[in-house]
Amino acid sequence: TLTVVGSINIDHVIRLPQFPRPGETLTGSDYRIVPGGKGANQAVAAARAGATTRFIACVGEDTLAQSLIDGFAADGIDTAAIERIEGINTGVALIQVNAEGENSIALAAGANGRLTPEQLSRHTEGLHCEQLLLQLEIPLATNIAAASQAKVQGARVVLNPAPAQSLPDELLTLVDLITPNETEAERLTGVTVNDDAGADAAARALHAKGIATVIITLGARGVWLSEQGRGQLIPGFKVKAVDTTAAGDTFNGALLAALQQRQPLLQAVRFAQAAAALSVTRPGAQTSVPYQDEINALLES
Ligand code: ADP
Repeated sequence: TLTVVGSINIDHVIRLPQFPRPGETLTGSDYRIVPGGKGANQAVAAARAGATTRFIACVGEDTLAQSLIDGFAADGIDTAAIERIEGINTGVALIQVNAEGENSIALAAGANGRLTPEQLSRHTEGLHCEQLLLQLEIPLATNIAAASQAKVQGARVVLNPAPAQSLPDELLTLVDLITPNETEAERLTGVTVNDDAGADAAARALHAKGIATVIITLGARGVWLSEQGRGQLIPGFKVKAVDTTAAGDTFNGALLAALQQRQPLLQAVRFAQAAAALSVTRPGAQTSVPYQDEINALLES
């Protein structure tokens, strides 16, 4: 099983010609409410890509929460460890998407902030898994607790260190596979990642923390894959981007689905890049996440 411990957000998405400047009001063309949150997006991406997936998370008492949980269940995710917390809202993201498909995001953690180590301890059976997938939209102490327990059980601990923040060695030393984008890699290592040499240097700095496998995602360029200090650029798929929201999330979920199916790492990265490329051709977060057959069709085209 893959266990995802992480966030659930309700995304409010507005498309605009460009991002408003401070003090400026701009009218967008289109408004939508879409299920999001990095934990949820990655769980959905994994499940749609074929993984047996469990999700440990918290929602608030608002009316949309149950429909989110129903959506996860419809994707085949085990939702038994998603709890509704009284007196607080489900996490919210206010997302602006510009004409280039770039996004700008403001978050309110809501119930995600209540996924504490104590809350996690109610669902320790979820940590008896082969793979654990974490992101940074829940309390850091919870990620450390989840990673240490999963590690003891012999699980592969995977961290998508997003949104960008610096992290203590206490967490990094528990991680087997890390998947930062360029900004996140820079924040973690202090190394600027704008070419292959930078990616290689950042990857080496992460290996030095004891992380065996480093995958730095480089947007449309693809990924830098580094194992035992040997790195290579794996180009992505050429597609027309309309909305890159959840590209990284789709990459992570699909990667773990491929690894669960025992695909070799290089093949799993190709699969994940195909999934992520499909996601950027469609608007929204979970609405843009592709299914296994679509991913295989792109790989075979
Ligand atoms: P994040 O969304 O976390 O910032 P990236 O932008 O690096 O992550 O994207 C993650 C992966 O998604 C990339 O490694 C690539 O495989 C795929 N991807 C992202 N943007 C594009 C694009 N414009 N065209 C094709 N693939 C893309």
